[in-house]
Amino acid sequence: MDGFGGPVAEYGRAARPLLGLALAIPLVLLAGVACGQKPEPSTSPEPCDRPNVLLYVVDTLRADHIGRDAASGSETPAADRLAREGRFFANALAPSSWTRASIGSILTGLYPDVHGAQGRDSALPAHLETLAELLRQHRYTTAAVVTNPNVGSFYGFDQGFDTYLQLFERREPGRIKSGEAIVRSDQVTEQLFSWIDDATCPFFLSVLTIDPHWPYGPPTAFDRFGAEYSGPVDTDKLAIKRDDLTPADRDRIRALYRGEVAFNDASLGMLLEKLESEGRLDDTIVILTSDHGEEFWEHGGVLHGTTLYDEVLRVPLIIRYPKAVTAERVTSQVSLVDIAPTLLELLGIDAPYPFDGVSLLQSASENRSVHAMLELDGRRSRSMSQSSWKLIENWRNGSRALFDLDRDPGETKNLISENRERVSAMSAEMLRLRRAHRQRREAMRSGAPVQTTPATDLPDDARKALEALGYLDSPN
Ligand SMILES: [Zn+2]
Repeated sequence: MDGFGGPVAEYGRAARPLLGLALAIPLVLLAGVACGQKPEPSTSPEPCDRPNVLLYVVDTLRADHIGRDAASGSETPAADRLAREGRFFANALAPSSWTRASIGSILTGLYPDVHGAQGRDSALPAHLETLAELLRQHRYTTAAVVTNPNVGSFYGFDQGFDTYLQLFERREPGRIKSGEAIVRSDQVTEQLFSWIDDATCPFFLSVLTIDPHWPYGPPTAFDRFGAEYSGPVDTDKLAIKRDDLTPADRDRIRALYRGEVAFNDASLGMLLEKLESEGRLDDTIVILTSDHGEEFWEHGGVLHGTTLYDEVLRVPLIIRYPKAVTAERVTSQVSLVDIAPTLLELLGIDAPYPFDGVSLLQSASENRSVHAMLELDGRRSRSMSQSSWKLIENWRNGSRALFDLDRDPGETKNLISENRERVSAMSAEMLRLRRAHRQRREAMRSGAPVQTTPATDLPDDARKALEALGYLDSPN
């Protein structure tokens, strides 16, 4: 019994609709996937002496679209509330600009070049101990709901989860319509409600909702940011990559994205309200974050997974747990690799190996270096953020760019030529770190084979869902 209220179907078999939702297109679900060769946890009952954990990840959510820092006109009351009542990290960076690499870092506390799930076919290695495995070993009931096939069980992301529910909407043959690949966050919330009702405490519930990931298509009620627009971008899935878009077209695309952000926030709000109405919110560590941001032509491109500029690295990060985490706004730079060490410290669980991240329960050094990396589809880039300085190196073509984010937050003015010594020092640290990470990865692997899942080995519906989201047939 998986505990979710929705249907459980064998892969590839049409399932009945979710609770109270009449879907025109059947969902394809995978649930309760067996998890590797690691020891099974004890099932003996134990009083609930530890807090529940809700890890709520919004795919593709830019930091500047939520909370007090929102500069976009978005409406995110649920995130705003968490930011008020929790520790709000105003300068949180993703360790990569695409889903699999970044989620791998959230679950392991390791940078992508250490955990290894950073390439198009690469999987999260079984020898790593994920948050789910660690919490399950400590008698947590563990469950995940994911809506992006990039973290499917076929890529090893089900490790440690008693239940791993994958919601990938099957599309009809023919032309893909905007929104068709998306399982909406309100549908996810329906599933979560049902699971929470039956969950044994303490629980670890990990959620990856996919709106506002492209294609952008908010429900009508949330399409309120520029809905008066009439033009070609609403129905043309390729519109965002066209080079003849007018300023109005671009505004409309951004508005659709904002609508999805607001919609997702409403779903999060329902989830928080449910926990609160049942008296469980304050007994639950709530972590809100995203795996990466999104580009909207700031540097000429769109979507994500191609650059390491701040529009794709800066993400929300909020931890709400009033019993142990004071509500404050933290401005020092932090990384999503810090989530695992922070959570384990809150729960009093020992780390299985040294993390790349640090616990955010202590104040971080202002001079700490935070890194990001992208090794995807032939791209090889790394960035290092230290104080107000940020160096981006393209290791494929040798280009480099240094920015002073205090004076130039938009990363428009390359200061390489005026800062040779600084660049040399930062570059040397990046190279040293890369070597250390490679050694560490090999040491942790200790002879185990590198794990990959080529696209040709994917279940058919998962491959189609990836295509519909712009993966496989597109670098994004
Ligand atoms: Zn993503």
